[in-house]
Amino acid sequence: MKEFKIQPIKNGTVIDHIDSGKALKVIKILGIDENVSSVVSVVMHVQSSKKTYKDIVKVEDRELNPKELDKIALIAPNATINIIRDYEVVKKTKVHPPERVKGIVRCANPNCITNSRTALDTMEPVEPEFIVESVKPMRLRCVYCERELENPEEHLI
Ligand SMILES: [Zn+2]
Repeated sequence: MKEFKIQPIKNGTVIDHIDSGKALKVIKILGIDENVSSVVSVVMHVQSSKKTYKDIVKVEDRELNPKELDKIALIAPNATINIIRDYEVVKKTKVHPPERVKGIVRCANPNCITNSRTALDTMEPVEPEFIVESVKPMRLRCVYCERELENPEEHLI
C-alpha cells in the first residue's frame, strides 16, 4: 500500500484518523470559515488500511483547546492529534471521548431546563451536560431530563 504523505507544516496541528466524511465537521468545530487567516488543508477519503478510509485536517499556527478536543472526540472518536513545532511532531495523542461533556452540545428536548427560555432570561443559564453512555455508536444522555441524544454532532454548540 502506498502511504499517503502529508506535506510538512512548521507549526500547528494535524488531526489524523478522522472518520471518513467528518473532516468538514471538524473544520466547523474549529471555527474555520471564509475569514481564516492561516493555512488549512483538508484531505478526505484517504485510504487508511485495506478496507478503511479516513480524513485528515491540517491547521497551521493553531493548537486546539480542551473544548475543541472534546467536540472532535464526539464526532471522530478515532482521531489522533499531532502537535507540530518547528516541523517536528512534539506531541501525538488520541482523542478521548470524555465520560461527561459540558457546554458543547445542546439537549434535543425543547422542554429541558437547559433550553428553558425562562431560565435563560431570568436566571443563570443552565449549561447543558451529558453522560457519554456509548461511544460506538455515540450516545449521550442529558443529566437534567435524561433524554438520549443519538446524533450529538447535529447538536454541537
Ligand atoms: Zn435535557
